[in-house]
Amino acid sequence: MATKKPIDPADSPRVVLEGRVVTMNGNAEVIANGRVYTHNGDIVAVQEATAPAPAGFGNTAVSATGGTIYPGFIDLHNHMPYNVLPLWQVPKKFSNRGQWGRHAEYHSKISAPMQTLAATPELLASICRYVEAKALVGGTTTGQGITLANQSGIRRYFRGVVRNVEATDDEASLPAASTRVPDVAAKDAQTFLTRLKKEKSCYLLHLSEGTDATARRAFQSLQIGGASWAITPSLCGIHAAALQAPDFEVLAANGGSMVWSPFSNMLLYGRTADIAAAKAAGVPISLGCDWAPSGSRNLLNELKVAHIFSEANGGIFTARELVAMVTREPAGLLGWDRVVGTIEVGKRADLLVVEGTAGDPYQQLIRAKESDLALVMINGVGRIGDAALMRKLGFAGETLKIGGANHMLFLAHPAEDPLTQNLTLSAAGDRLTRALRGLPALARMAERPRPISPMAMARAGANTWRLALDEILDTGVELRANLPVRVPGGRTLRAAAMRPVFAETKKLSAAVMPLAIDALTVVDDPGYLDALDTQRNVPDTIKEGLRDLWS
Ligand SMILES: [Zn+2]
Repeated sequence: MATKKPIDPADSPRVVLEGRVVTMNGNAEVIANGRVYTHNGDIVAVQEATAPAPAGFGNTAVSATGGTIYPGFIDLHNHMPYNVLPLWQVPKKFSNRGQWGRHAEYHSKISAPMQTLAATPELLASICRYVEAKALVGGTTTGQGITLANQSGIRRYFRGVVRNVEATDDEASLPAASTRVPDVAAKDAQTFLTRLKKEKSCYLLHLSEGTDATARRAFQSLQIGGASWAITPSLCGIHAAALQAPDFEVLAANGGSMVWSPFSNMLLYGRTADIAAAKAAGVPISLGCDWAPSGSRNLLNELKVAHIFSEANGGIFTARELVAMVTREPAGLLGWDRVVGTIEVGKRADLLVVEGTAGDPYQQLIRAKESDLALVMINGVGRIGDAALMRKLGFAGETLKIGGANHMLFLAHPAEDPLTQNLTLSAAGDRLTRALRGLPALARMAERPRPISPMAMARAGANTWRLALDEILDTGVELRANLPVRVPGGRTLRAAAMRPVFAETKKLSAAVMPLAIDALTVVDDPGYLDALDTQRNVPDTIKEGLRDLWS
């Protein structure tokens, strides 16, 4: 039986992109005037612009981008559905994640609004469309997925155009990663180690988020005894903010890695991981956004925060090392380094083109705004970019303005999720804007049980997909357990028997208030930097640095 590949229709047209090529390969090679040839999803050649075209490209028009070409971004830490919500005005300085999850303000601004949206299946398609487009306009070509669940507890992932680390349908070259939000209890460390040893890709575990001893204990719980730890090269700790220098030594000695999300850490806790110690210990490090309510809107912002933090602390990372943290490093953590993460022949054509070729190319990317992204290509298909370039390449879709310029979004896909078929980003955004503005009314509707006839139930029940939210508040239920389950139709889903969050819809209307949708970009959100200024925990150096880098 032919397997449908969710993001990899290997039939992309021949494309020749000319520009400065930042390969991010092992030699950090940059071709000042180069060309990248792509076809059928792959990079066919990377060479000087003056070199003869490879076989088959004789008649292919060269697209002179006037820009710099990088590998596409990989974001290993995101809670995608939440990215419709605006930045939370964090009410106090927390010291571990168990605290804010129980704060009344968190309930009214984040968990109750999200539960209300999740309890309204009519909004599901709009949420998927909006948050995926938002990742794309920030350059993400590979990220974490959007989990859906139906009434029977069957789970699946939204099938979008952004490569999803949790569902690839291509276990041979892109084995799926696993994710987990709750802590591992000390008594379960041995079981967890057994689970880690079975991992083919990477196990993304939220680890020691916070700054205090409670947060650090989550790491210490991985110690089975003596020098034996539930850490393998598959373990990637998200945050690792409470780890001390000796902990990073242990993590590195056992082959573990981390995803650093400095902006989220600073918003909630006022400081971030001892990243200099992590680097000194040799821990492989990637960068992740976390989520819009207390994190970066996209990786362009997270790169800026990481750069500002690094510079303010004596220059921990070079600009190139930071770019590696969103390209080749995460590809390595996933075990996907032979397929993505750099611009090399034979790899998937996941590319970013940023306008301009002046100065240091790595600094240029760190300074880039969403409006500077002339093209975001996934598997040889242009997904968003400058409207003229997209048209020239044959990817004509929905037009939108980014930073005043005409851009084009192309989301057509041979194996497109039926959920979002024919739904434009513009319609999705309008619908969500209205829904968030009317949250109290929506919550009241969600609280009222809908009368469902047995016939309607039979017709729609099992196929009514809803958001399965990552439950940040620890209830002891692992919501992203990733247990492989065979479902009718032959596809292996990563599913879990669970108590769905959407069953808890009581008292939502008392908690929620009207909210504004989180804007698609920073460049078109004049209030964003002002809103950051009112965040009590974010250091002034970060606020000022962001103002500079986004200007
Ligand atoms: Zn997270």
